[in-house]
Amino acid sequence: MIIDLRSDTVTLPTKEMKEAMFNAKVGDDVFEDDETVNKLEALGASLFGKEAAIYCPSGTMTNQIAIKLNTNSPGEIICDELSHVYKYEGGGIGFNSGLASKLLQGNAGRLTAKQIETAINPDDVHFPETQLVSLENTCNKGGGTIYDIEEIKNIKTLCDNKNLKLHLDGARIFNATVEANYSTQDIGAQFDTISVCLSKGLGAPVGSLLLGTKTDIKKARRIRKLFGGGMRQAGYIAAAGIYALENNIERLKEDHQKAKGLGSTLENLAYVKKVLPVHTNIVVFEVIDKIDYTTIINKLEEKNLKSVAFGPQQIRLVTHLDYTDDMHAEAINILNSLR
Ligand SMILES: *Cc1c(COP(=O)(O)O)cnc(C)c1O
Repeated sequence: MIIDLRSDTVTLPTKEMKEAMFNAKVGDDVFEDDETVNKLEALGASLFGKEAAIYCPSGTMTNQIAIKLNTNSPGEIICDELSHVYKYEGGGIGFNSGLASKLLQGNAGRLTAKQIETAINPDDVHFPETQLVSLENTCNKGGGTIYDIEEIKNIKTLCDNKNLKLHLDGARIFNATVEANYSTQDIGAQFDTISVCLSKGLGAPVGSLLLGTKTDIKKARRIRKLFGGGMRQAGYIAAAGIYALENNIERLKEDHQKAKGLGSTLENLAYVKKVLPVHTNIVVFEVIDKIDYTTIINKLEEKNLKSVAFGPQQIRLVTHLDYTDDMHAEAINILNSLR
């Protein structure tokens, strides 16, 4: 048995999901003729109370489209230094949108309205114009941390007052909504644009949605084509997205439960220096200084438990749909067996 906890992107479509894909009614989505894609977009938009949505091949693409449609070069985006849009999208903010990035040090990936306010550039020719704020919820590099909805509302008020756009990288937004006491409708009301991944914890093989106003999504359609992301009979994969939204949201709680179990196992182990608090489905731990952490990754791999390097001495484990109860019991055994 191979236990793959490198990411929640490793899940495979189930029989039911594949049946939904096989039976999809498709058309040419660049002509907006694919009824399954249209249905997925309408479903995603309505879940968050947004007017419209566009289906894209990846979350990197939905984020980068959002950054481009919300700004005009030259200008500046404000985000946390850990954010995916800055750290893991190949420098796309500069390359695709011609923006400078102002990076703030938040609380495990989470910013406050106060912090953002002091980072907004004054109206002075020396400075790039601040145009957009981007938040990430949950925050991957922060260890799956969740934003407080009240802080998001404070940030929204600030952005309205300062005439800034507000984007959400919601790659794992459902991990936040099932765990915290707010809804997708609450989230939808706070942001101009929202990116949602279907291929993470929700278990679809491909795809992300970008949500916004009709006007914004019309612009997004133009940018998606420019980026080479216009797909034809995409309904076959969009059907998996519909299946995921209809069946796999509530069960994310089970992943969080298992992640907490892994976290508390790790707390008691001699080779572990520190475990970051487990908020959702991401477990990050630090190996003690005298052991090179890559030897731990390799030993786990030898025992068929796959993990990833996450930072200096840090290892990440991510629970997901394909991580069964049996695998969970075995993973705990493996972690306990290492010396
Ligand atoms: C996975 C992820 C994305 C998008 O990644 P793709 O692999 O391009 O789909 C964006 N933001 C966060 C926080 C992610 O974890």
